Amino acid sequence: MKKNDDTPKGIYWPSATFIIATHLIAIFGLPTFNWPAFWICLALTWMTACLGITLCYHRLLTHRSFSVPKPIEYLLTLIACLAWQGGPITWVAVHRRHHGQSDQQGDPHSPRHGFFWSHMGWCLYESYFNQHPDQYEKYAPDMTGDPIYRFLEKTFVLWNIPLGIILYLSGGWTFVIWGIFIRITFVYHITWLVNSAAHTWGYQSYKTSDQSKNLWWVAWLSFGEGWHNNHHAFQTSARHGLNRGEFDLTYTIIRFLERLNLAKNIKLPTKQQLQTTL
Ligand SMILES: [Zn+2]
Ligand SMILES: [Zn+2]
Repeated sequence: MKKNDDTPKGIYWPSATFIIATHLIAIFGLPTFNWPAFWICLALTWMTACLGITLCYHRLLTHRSFSVPKPIEYLLTLIACLAWQGGPITWVAVHRRHHGQSDQQGDPHSPRHGFFWSHMGWCLYESYFNQHPDQYEKYAPDMTGDPIYRFLEKTFVLWNIPLGIILYLSGGWTFVIWGIFIRITFVYHITWLVNSAAHTWGYQSYKTSDQSKNLWWVAWLSFGEGWHNNHHAFQTSARHGLNRGEFDLTYTIIRFLERLNLAKNIKLPTKQQLQTTL
């Protein structure tokens, strides 16, 4: 595996230990299966991957492709923290850097450095932001200036503890294993597939300067994020599935929030933009 030139210097033990331990507990916990635990795992997957990571961390906080009232924004961020993918400031900064240097030197997770690197390898090594913590200000000034985001950034790991207690009291260790460890491992790979598979396989509908692709099975798994070439072409669009047959559940939810008068300023590409880039 070739490393990204300016990012990894060595294993970053806090996240490497965390990710490996979560995987091991998930794998060895699989035989505890029962149906209620399975459904809880799926419901929490939808909550944390779709509402948390996709709708909030990605489309709302990183790209500001729509807006919601601040208390709702903070609540959605708290839900995203339950995915254990880092605090909101780190997630937003890393993803904005990905868009700034997609598949070029400096991209935190390009498959040009190997599929495994783009999938999960990059999470195990020291990142650009580990080495340059001052750069959070540059990539996410809107986040670093907000004390609530700074608080959630520091505490994101802890929010699974109250959830774990509720799960334990409801269904014992089986609920904890399925509702936290198996769910988090599953959601890790859903998110990582967008960075790895959707920059490797699939079709391109729009010309971009990177390798982003539209890949139907990643789109279905990731609640619409797999229409990744569309997303790289129109980064601030709240809608990623832009063409016929490109189902995008997250966009449907954003429209639903609009009907409830919660989502506003929904950004979409114009018809002219869609045509000229084809
Ligand atoms: Zn990408
Ligand atoms: Zn993005």
